Amino acid sequence: MAQAAESVTSGPRDLRTLAEEIAREVAARHADSVDREARFPSEAIAALKQARLLSAHVPASLGGDGCSLQELIEMCEVLGEHCASTAMVFAMHQIEVVCLVQHGAASPWFQGYLRRVAASQRLIASVTSEVGVGGSMRTSICAVERQHERFRLTKDATTISYGVQADDLLITARAAGDSAPGDQALLLLQKEDYQLKRLGTWDALGMRGTCSAGGTVEGVASVEQILSTPFADIAAQTMVPVSHLLWSALWSGIAASAVGRAAAWVRGEARKAPGTTPPAALRLAEVHAELQSMRASVAAMASEYQTIRADPRRTSELSGMGFALRVNNLKVNASRAVTRIVEAALQICGIHGYKNDSPFSVGRQLRDALSASLMVANDRIYAANAAVLLVQKEI
Ligand SMILES: Cc1cc2nc3c(=O)[nH]c(=O)nc-3n(C[C@H](O)[C@H](O)[C@H](O)COP(=O)(O)OP(=O)(O)OC[C@H]3O[C@@H](n4cnc5c(N)ncnc54)[C@H](O)[C@@H]3O)c2cc1C
Repeated sequence: MAQAAESVTSGPRDLRTLAEEIAREVAARHADSVDREARFPSEAIAALKQARLLSAHVPASLGGDGCSLQELIEMCEVLGEHCASTAMVFAMHQIEVVCLVQHGAASPWFQGYLRRVAASQRLIASVTSEVGVGGSMRTSICAVERQHERFRLTKDATTISYGVQADDLLITARAAGDSAPGDQALLLLQKEDYQLKRLGTWDALGMRGTCSAGGTVEGVASVEQILSTPFADIAAQTMVPVSHLLWSALWSGIAASAVGRAAAWVRGEARKAPGTTPPAALRLAEVHAELQSMRASVAAMASEYQTIRADPRRTSELSGMGFALRVNNLKVNASRAVTRIVEAALQICGIHGYKNDSPFSVGRQLRDALSASLMVANDRIYAANAAVLLVQKEI
């Protein structure tokens, strides 16, 4: 990781290679203990901080690398291949950074904050879930209580990944005490602004290193820490598409990891009987094709999103029904593909894939993959798409 300590002022860095080195040399080495002990991937996140990758997307003028969304996608995939929990922590942090860059960079307070993210590699967690609304991100019960230049907020969240380890929290709430449940604001609380209380537990099937226990956040901060763009726009234009892209990329990484193990198994079988093709090689070819389709879907959506983003005259398209439908389809398709692919890899490796202590084990990958369809329930997304399809005539 020689490049890691290099100054960011010495020119553009190869961030994908840096992330790959950390994924291979640090995240992979600790992935099994992170999973077994359901502990935060502290070694990998420390390495990402040391390499200044938490500020990869912060504009260079504010001390970051100003990297593209495409680079974030590539970093999430390579991290996902070696430790899905590390990749999910990295992805969620980057989703928050992209929201702040897109919707806060015009505000002096948020400019100062992004400088602090770059200087101190602050880790940001997301608090969109809430007791009483389940996974409905576009509904809040809690509300911002303004008192002159300050506000107060109490939010009871069902799930906050790495809430304990995070420095700061990006939180949804009703914009004011008399706002409707869908009239939301997005606000940032820094460590010194809040207390995290009544923490629940996180002994989950997979994604165990994300440490996603629930908890109650109580905070008081300056009203400057509330983004001026309504959350409805932030969600449609940035948070949802970027989440679906970065999650799908890291799920591709999980799928690639399982296919890699299946390929190693099949090659081993082929070596035992030179000149013959093991029967499982056909299944390998089949699952490899599915992995390619999964990656192609992420690439196509990323290309469409970045093209629209690059043209300010097309921003309104991001709030349109057609775009929402396609970006939602990416999420439901990728979340289903990852479990199918890992399950196919398990069938190829057979008992060696099923055993936890085998080099061909895909147990961790399968358990991590199963979170994908729950992370904003697929049925919730299908319900949203169904409503669009009732009125949109173009298929
Ligand atoms: C690994 C992981 C990390 C997470 N990290 C965070 C985090 O950092 N911050 C955060 O805020 N949240 C986080 N979440 C929570 C996540 O975003 C969702 O809020 C949560 O997974 C949804 O929980 P739920 O299944 O109880 O709720 P719901 O979405 O309410 O679903 C409950 C049930 O109702 C069904 N359902 C819901 N809506 C509909 C509908 N319209 N039509 C038909 N059926 C429907 C669902 O299919 C499901 O069966 C995380 C989740 C996971 C898995």
